[in-house]
Parts: sequence; C-alpha cells; structure tokens
Amino acid sequence: MKLAVVGGGVSGISAAIALEEMFPKASITLFEAGKKLGGKVGTIFKDGFLIEEGPDSINAQKEETTSLAFDPILPKTHFCTLLGKGKVDFSNLKRANIEPSLERSLGDYVSEAYGEWAVPLFAGVYGGDPDRVSSLILSGKRVQSPWGVSFIGLKNGIGEMVDNLATKFKRTEVVFKRIQEITSGGRVDDKSYDGVICAVPARKAPYSWDLLNSLPVGSAGIVTYETEEITEDFGSGVICRENGISGATFSSVKWEGRSPKGKGLARVFFYELNGDLEKAGLDFLVSLGVKPIRILLKRAWENEIPIFSKEHYEIAWKIEQNTGPVQFTSINASGIPDCLSSGRYAVERLAKVLEGVRYGT
Ligand SMILES: Cc1cc2nc3c(=O)[nH]c(=O)nc-3n(C[C@H](O)[C@H](O)[C@H](O)COP(=O)(O)OP(=O)(O)OC[C@H]3O[C@@H](n4cnc5c(N)ncnc54)[C@H](O)[C@@H]3O)c2cc1C
Repeated sequence: MKLAVVGGGVSGISAAIALEEMFPKASITLFEAGKKLGGKVGTIFKDGFLIEEGPDSINAQKEETTSLAFDPILPKTHFCTLLGKGKVDFSNLKRANIEPSLERSLGDYVSEAYGEWAVPLFAGVYGGDPDRVSSLILSGKRVQSPWGVSFIGLKNGIGEMVDNLATKFKRTEVVFKRIQEITSGGRVDDKSYDGVICAVPARKAPYSWDLLNSLPVGSAGIVTYETEEITEDFGSGVICRENGISGATFSSVKWEGRSPKGKGLARVFFYELNGDLEKAGLDFLVSLGVKPIRILLKRAWENEIPIFSKEHYEIAWKIEQNTGPVQFTSINASGIPDCLSSGRYAVERLAKVLEGVRYGT
C-alpha cells in the first residue's frame, strides 16, 4: 500500500507517525514544500539570540502535550516555564460557570465569564475577531499540567520538538518538493496513492474543493527585534487590538536564555499584514518604552490562520463527512497540541475509508 502526506508541519509530522503505526506494511512518503520540516514552527540561533519563528509556547493542559513530556523518544527536549509574570493579572481568571457553545461568540462568552478586560487576551490567543470566533474553541478536556503551569516553552526552542518528533520516522521517506495537485482519487502530482493526508492550511491546499476554500481564515505576522535590556517590570508582554497589531511579547523576560546578557528580545504580533510591519512594530515598542536596536526576523502567513467561527465548524463538519482517500488536517489544526491530534485523527478517518475499500463497503 502506498500512502502520502502533503505538508511537513506539526500536523503532517504527526500524521506520518500515525500512518507508520496504523499501516505497518505501507510505504509512506511525506512531501514538504520548504527546505525543512516544521512549517510555522522553527527556532533560529543568531548572534546569541534564540528566536522562535512562530510558536514559542505550548498549552500544558492538553493530553498531547503531557504525553510528549513522558515520551521516551524525546529525551533531549527540555521544558521550561514562563518566567515573567506579565502585566495581566491572571489570578482572577477562574473557569466560569457557563459552558461554551457553537452559537455563543468568544467575545460574548469571555466578557460574561471573565470580564470585558479578558476579551483582547483571548482574541490574541485565537487570532481572530472575538465576535466572529465561536466560544466552542474553549471547550474540550483539560488535563492536569505536570509542570504546574498552563503554558510551557522549550529551553532550546520549539524547533527541537520537531527535530525529535521526526526521529520517530522509521519508514517515512521525506521529499522536499512543492506539490502542485492532489486529486480526489489520491493522485499526488504524477503518482497515485491509496491514501493521502493533506496537512496544508486550507486555502493553500493544492486540492480543488469549494468547501476547503470557503473555510474562514485570517493572517498573522511576527517581527522580532533586538532591543536594549528589558526589565522584569515590563512583564512578559502586552495585548493590543489596534492598527493590525495584536500585541508584543518580551521573550527575554518570558523565557530564560533568549538573549545575550544586557540585551533584550521582543516580538510584535500582527493580525493584518498591510503596510510597513517593521516600522509599525518599532513604533509600537517605542510607545511601550522599549528601545529597539535592530530587526532580527520577520515572518508572515497570509490567509493561513483558521478562524474558528460558527461557519468554520459547519463547513469542517461537511469536510469530515468526506469518505474519500484524501483526508484534511486543517479543519481541526490550531495550536501545537491540536495539530498533533489533528494529524492522528485524519489518519483514523483514512483508516476507516481504506478498511471499507478492503471489505468492499
Ligand atoms: C504568529 C503565530 C503564533 C503562534 N503561536 C503559537 C503558540 O505559541 N503555541 C501554539 O501551540 N501554537 C501557536 N501558533 C499556531 C501553530 O503555529 C499552528 O497551529 C501550527 O504550527 C500549524 O501546523 P500545521 O502543520 O497544521 O501547518 P503549517 O505549520 O502551516 O505546516 C504546513 C506545511 O505544509 C507545507 N506546504 C504548503 N503547501 C505545500 C505544498 N503544495 N506541497 C508540499 N508542502 C506544502 C508548508 O511548507 C508547511 O511546512 C501560532 C501561529 C502563528 C501564526
């Protein structure tokens, strides 16, 4: 049996690992358009700075995260917890007595549950307009964090997690090539496969399907600056919802070992990619009293961020009913733990389809 994964981000890597487990005799090929695995996840070391390309923290109250901590294949991964306390006082952030639902918006839910002050915080985390995003995003099982905190980072950067996960590949052949077309019958460019996991953000998938193209999406960008030393008084970051800026985090306050002594590292986050991001980020930092020295990195992802609105869930449900040999991770993938589970979940759906083919159903 021949199986393929298209997209080598966290979702695609997780899908390839699950394919190896569930199809022990199949040949598996993972296609990645970039030069390395990881997608939005990556760590760059430059002049003594540790710079995260995208995510810098992992929700520690998800099963997928806690199982990573105890996975013997990841012994080199050193977890670390948030250092700075942040300007937002989380001590009052207790889980409310009302349940999230599909019909209730995130903004509505959060302002009733926690208070109006918390709305920009949640909007920042879920990367969308709080009135469009459904509060359903907050539902789901929470587990006890073994670290005693809600979010963790990795001492050597999140890129290390990707490297370690990829060492799990035993039979997966990784091919660095941009795929132009996946067909509903399982053809990937010029080769046919029995099953395909498409682990590419919905709008970027090389697969023509109106449903995929109608999933609501947004954009995101990060500009990372070397700064003069940032003191603990600044906290680990600030939230904003103006001029396309969703906030800034002070990585050198938030995590240990991110910058050389006497220097600071700050990241400004954007939810709109219009105009001169470098300049807008710089002005924003200055307005906060932080002194930028130079730009270290800029990354932007246009129309790649899923917006978990009511519409998203309705379309995603229809996509999930697809019983063909091509399955999609992007309908569930948001955040590292959920991407890990979305890869596995897509493989489970594919297994059902292939099982049906085998027994002629
Ligand atoms: C600014 C920002 C900050 C974030 N912070 C956090 C955080 O702190 N914690 C957290 O848990 N999550 C965070 N996230 C979310 C997290 O980064 C994503 O949910 C996750 O990385 C998505 O993984 P993925 O594998 O689904 O997609 P991607 O990482 O986008 O991977 C898709 C892969 O497919 C490849 N590809 C695309 N087209 C093709 C093609 N035609 N052929 C072959 N390959 C192709 C791409 O090159 C890419 O490698 C953040 C996201 C952003 C944008």
